[in-house]
This record gives sequence, C-alpha cells and structure tokens, in this order.
Amino acid sequence: MSKRIPEPFRIKMVESIKQTTKEYRVQALAGAGNNPFLLRSEDVYIDLLTDSGTGAMSDRQWSGMMLGDEAYAGSRSFYKLEAAVHDIFAYQHVVPTHQGRGAEQILFPALMDRRKQVKNVTNPVFISNYHFDTTAAHVELSGAKAINVVMPEAMDTQAYHPFKGNFDLAKLESTIQEYGADNVVAIIVTVTCNSVGGQPVSMENIQAAAAMAKKHDIPVVIDSARYCENAWFIKQREAGYQDWSIPAIIKEIYKCGDVLTMSAKKDPLVNMGGLCCVKERDDLFKAVQVRCIPYEGFITYGGLCGRDMEALAIGLYEGMNEEYLNYRIGQVEYLGDGLIAAGVPIQNPTGGHAVFVDAARLLPHIPSHQFPAHALANALYIEGGIRGVEIGSLLLGRDPKTGEQKASGFELLRLTIPRRVYTNDHMDYIVETFKDVLKDVKQVKGLDFEYEPPILRHFTARLKYVK
Ligand SMILES: *Cc1c(COP(=O)(O)O)cnc(C)c1O
Repeated sequence: MSKRIPEPFRIKMVESIKQTTKEYRVQALAGAGNNPFLLRSEDVYIDLLTDSGTGAMSDRQWSGMMLGDEAYAGSRSFYKLEAAVHDIFAYQHVVPTHQGRGAEQILFPALMDRRKQVKNVTNPVFISNYHFDTTAAHVELSGAKAINVVMPEAMDTQAYHPFKGNFDLAKLESTIQEYGADNVVAIIVTVTCNSVGGQPVSMENIQAAAAMAKKHDIPVVIDSARYCENAWFIKQREAGYQDWSIPAIIKEIYKCGDVLTMSAKKDPLVNMGGLCCVKERDDLFKAVQVRCIPYEGFITYGGLCGRDMEALAIGLYEGMNEEYLNYRIGQVEYLGDGLIAAGVPIQNPTGGHAVFVDAARLLPHIPSHQFPAHALANALYIEGGIRGVEIGSLLLGRDPKTGEQKASGFELLRLTIPRRVYTNDHMDYIVETFKDVLKDVKQVKGLDFEYEPPILRHFTARLKYVK
C-alpha cells in the first residue's frame, strides 16, 4: 500500500454532492439510455468520468480572472499566455483555442495541405503512439487514417513497464515504410498516453521517435494534455533525470516537437481552454491562424475569454509544481493500490490521471461487442453513484470504410481523478464500493445498441441490456 500523501492545499470553498438510493440510480441510468455520459451530474456522487475541465482552480487563478482583458484583438491576457508558452515550451507561435479538439481542427487540415504542397501524398496517414478519440476523429475528418503503434506491453494490463505509453519504434519505422514517408502527414506523440491508461512516454522514446521523423522529414506534433504528469514520471522512473527540475524536463521534451496541441482542461488546471503552438515554422503558423478565425475566433482569443487566458497562463505553471504532482499522482496510485488489494485487476502501474480497471478480466462472460467495461461502469454507478467511463470497443467504434466493429486490444473502465477536487477519503469510498460490485460481478450483463451515432458514438449512444 502506497503512502497517503496529504493534500498540499486547504479548502477555501466547498460544493455539495449528494448520495442517492440504489433504486433512484437504476431509474436514472435507464433514463440515460444506460449510458453514464447522458446522466445528470447532480445524480452522480463521485464523478470520475474525466479529468477534463473538472479540476479545481486555485485562489491565484480565480484572482487572475479579475485581470482578464476582454479586448477582441490584442488582449493583454493573450500576451501573458504567449509569454508563458515561450517560457515553458520555447515555442514561438501561439494560437489559443477553445479546447484541445479546437487545436486539432485548425491544425490537421493545415498540416495536410502543407504536406500535399511539398510531397506526393496519395494515401495520407497520421501515426501516433495512440490517438486520443477526438484526435483520431479529426485525423479522419481531415481525410487521413489514424494509426497507433504503441508498444505491445501497453495492452497487457498485468505486465509492469515504467513507460507503457512508448512507441513501438520498430513498428513506427515499418509503418512509415509501408505507407511511404510522403504519406505520413505527422507523427503525434501523446503525453501521457491517455488511451492506454495515462501511461507515460520516456524521454529516450520521444527522442528516438522524433529522430525517426526527422530522418523521413515528417513533422512531430506533441499532444500535450498531460505534459506535467509525463515529465514527473520521467523524473521518477527514467535513469539520468532524477536531478532535473520538472520545467527542465518539459523543455527537453518539447525540443523534439514541431507543433504542440493541448487540451488545457487537463494538466493546466482550467475548466476550458486549449492551445496550438508552432515552434518555428512560419508557414504552418500562418495556415493555422487562417483556419483559427472562422472556427475558433480571432487569433488572440481563439474561443476563449480574456479571463480564461489569464487563468490558463497561471495554470500552465501550477501544473508543473512538483509537490502538487507528488500528491496528485500519489492519489491515483493510492486508489490503484486499494483496488489491487481488493482483488480488482488494473492496468499496472497506475497512470498519471486515472486508474484503468481491466474489465475483460473481471467480466470474461461478456464478449467485447457487448462492451464489458461499459457494463462495469454501469454496475459501479448503480452500486455507489460513482461515474466512470469505458475505454474499449465502444469507444473505438467501427472501421469508417467497412463498418465493421474494430477489434480493441483491451476493455478498460477508466476511473479518472479530477485535479484537486476529491480527497483521499473519497478514494477509500470508491474502493469500498468496488468490493460490493465484485460480490455480484458474475450477474452483470452485456449491452447492445438501441441508438448508435455514426461517429464518436460513445458520447451519445443509447444502450439496452442483452437478455
Ligand atoms: C482531452 C484530450 C484531447 C482533446 O481535448 P479536448 O479539450 O477534450 O477537446 C486530445 N488529446 C488528448 C491526449 C486528450 O487527453
């Protein structure tokens, strides 16, 4: 059992959450099409759906909001944000966006256009350690295919590896050869690798992937939602970095990239915001700016209020605080250890932002096309009002060309911990609730679609229990 690291903050404002009865929750979930995404948050006691935009801002961030400059163009708050990006990442060009996918939608088609101008692109692909769901969707919307080449150990939840987010470098090289370097629009390095368990990517692996990209003249995009957590893992686990500061590790990572996209709703501790920053390529920056205006807004606000940019400029620094990261990732590990002790199989080791429960192992009687991890999420909600989310076949979806359900290598239930929101007592409650779920786990039934949306179906699908 890992040591409980006390919260490195005290609480200045509280928000009530309410417990409901089991009968109430059964009704609520049925009304939500048996999809926790469609529940009202008021009906959830502990919300582990996501760490996206759910963090608690600090007193400093809240006071920063009063300083927001709401000018349409040239806002003082933009320049503050830009200065923070220069300082932390050393990327020259900064475009704010309303959230991470805003950055993806203005960047990917621009990357595609630029590549077509200089290379013979016939069958475009993006290659990543693992594309996040909206990232894959934006790759596909831009007319390319999204290919994941994460190391195979990532798919085996029981095998320990310190950097399960790593690229399988041999597969990266062979995939580039298979499609031809001209067709590879970008290599996306996702830090940490959300989809396989919030698992970090090592510095060595990032550098090797970037060197390969450089050799083939392929741009590198760093998908940066959890840049602080990834840096913390490098410091903890990778030889040679123990004496480095978190900011120095971050600088070193970003030397490997050409562009960064960021959902600022994660590590930077704001409720809404994103970034698309270009290290030096002026042509790409201009193309991104051109797309920003119709989709996100003018180039110095990109869908954000001035006050949001103030809070983000502060949060970019707060997220890097090492004492905070010790507590933050320690809390996730504490939950993971509690679940392991209760006999729950989880992705080993725990990730930076979430514990991933291996539902395929826990519910072997439910086939993947009946979504075992989703069934487990529903059981956990009914048992204790805890909302988690499926990361498996439901999320993965169908092949856009053939309509076949794609084969997911894993069926995980993600318990995502919002930043600075829940206490360690809440973690204990989650473990206790899980113990109760385990008692009847063989009775949990699989699900099938009542309504299946064509893309990103997990968000709005309605499901029914298989008889
Ligand atoms: C959340 C996330 C995104 C998308 O960002 P939004 O802010 O949700 O639009 C992209 N990539 C990764 C790795 C993420 O975690």
